[in-house]
Amino acid sequence: MPNIVVIGAGVTGLTTALLLARRDGHNVTVVAKHMPGDYDIEYTSPWAGANVLPMAEASNDRWERRSWPELKRLAEEVPESGIHIQRSVVLRRNKDLALHGTAGRRLPDPLFAAKPWYADMFDDYRELRPDELPEAADSGSAWTCVCINTALYLPYLVGQCRKAGVVFRRASLKHVSEARGMSHTGAPRADVVVNASGLLACRLGGVMDAKVQPARGQIVLVRNEIAPMMTISGTDDAEDELFYLMQRASGGGTIIGGTYAVGNWDPNPDPNIANRILERALKIHPALKGKTVKDLDVVRHGVGLRPYREGGLRLEREKIDGTWVVHNYGHAGWGYQGSYGCAEGAVEIVDDILVNELSRVSSKLHLDNSKFPAVHQPIPSHTHQPHRQRFRVPLPRALNPYGSILGFQRDVITLALAPPTQVTGLIVLRIPLRHIFQGYLDQAVCVGAVIRDI
Ligand SMILES: Cc1cc2nc3c(=O)[nH]c(=O)nc-3n(C[C@H](O)[C@H](O)[C@H](O)COP(=O)(O)OP(=O)(O)OC[C@H]3O[C@@H](n4cnc5c(N)ncnc54)[C@H](O)[C@@H]3O)c2cc1C
Repeated sequence: MPNIVVIGAGVTGLTTALLLARRDGHNVTVVAKHMPGDYDIEYTSPWAGANVLPMAEASNDRWERRSWPELKRLAEEVPESGIHIQRSVVLRRNKDLALHGTAGRRLPDPLFAAKPWYADMFDDYRELRPDELPEAADSGSAWTCVCINTALYLPYLVGQCRKAGVVFRRASLKHVSEARGMSHTGAPRADVVVNASGLLACRLGGVMDAKVQPARGQIVLVRNEIAPMMTISGTDDAEDELFYLMQRASGGGTIIGGTYAVGNWDPNPDPNIANRILERALKIHPALKGKTVKDLDVVRHGVGLRPYREGGLRLEREKIDGTWVVHNYGHAGWGYQGSYGCAEGAVEIVDDILVNELSRVSSKLHLDNSKFPAVHQPIPSHTHQPHRQRFRVPLPRALNPYGSILGFQRDVITLALAPPTQVTGLIVLRIPLRHIFQGYLDQAVCVGAVIRDI
């Protein structure tokens, strides 16, 4: 089975590891400096609210669209995931909308669009009537959404990963290439490394992405249970100061934010900012009308650094020191709400690499396919009819060290296998590709076989 090493145990690394382990049955090792349970300024995921407020442009909606159904399913069917249903209200001020798209704005304007692309993603999205709007807003929308208690959800993901066979290792890597020797299987070289290092992608040797920098978010966690979730398009305090509020599942309290200060690494909560965060909540949220700061029962103040990346997410492959690395980082303020979509995208790239890697087995073994012109093209069905048989083959053994991929046709892979007991012959197997991608790596069902002499 292929060996994959994932760098990172934030929501990105954990979700990617989970999908890899579940779907493809690979050997997956997660290597991380920080793990769920840690609170560290270099580790973003525990600091998030988190909820689903779509931020992508319509042209780039795939990651959030693909994530929503799974987050919703978890909220509805898996209470132990720490995700619950909450009504969400998004408010707009006309003066903020006038600034959208202007230079220097790094906040997610698409969230506040009057006719957003995500209106059809939620079952009950609707515009608010004027009589439903709080004083602070000129317009707004509402829908049924979810809030993720990250203190519960991250350990839940670890549990799901363990169940799927993922092995976790603690290590702080100086260079991305160190990961390839860290598979728990002891394999000297992992087939693929996934880089989900978040903000630290700007410091990880071999990556050192200068486009990555923090978007500092200061929050206050209070014991008060306040609903619905709410945000607004801007504040009068500063361009990088925001208002949002969300009540976490299962007694997790209510998160009140916040800030979005790009380039600011300060890990310490600023008491003046904290005070402004609470004042804004009192001013904007109808449930807090008539209350004062003293009515808000503070659990703690916090700062998290969102992994902001100029130009957006990096989800692509790169060969570093001879090993394929799949990057999945730079999610800024939408790492949770895009987690499943992006993990799915990363798995697709890994699959593609593995298939291309497998096709190179022949050159590694010095099998020269040009000697077998008859099997170079996908075999017409009548050719193998006389020898047709159904049987199971342990695919990894078939591919390594004996196998050689000869071609693809639609969803069928044609594989030449030099059997160990019959070195002068070749068995040609035709295996539905979906059996490989659905995780039947151990026992792929062959649809037919033909034995040819060399
Ligand atoms: C205040 C705040 C509010 C937010 N609200 C929301 C929200 O409502 N909805 C939402 O979707 N998102 C929200 N986010 C954004 C979200 O938290 C991030 O996008 C997400 O957590 C990024 O996750 P990640 O796994 O990519 O990075 P991280 O969580 O930072 O994880 C990175 C991992 O890589 C490991 N690592 C890095 N370098 C190395 C190395 N050299 N060696 C070994 N391990 C390494 C780290 O130890 C860690 O395990 C919010 C963020 C903040 C700060």
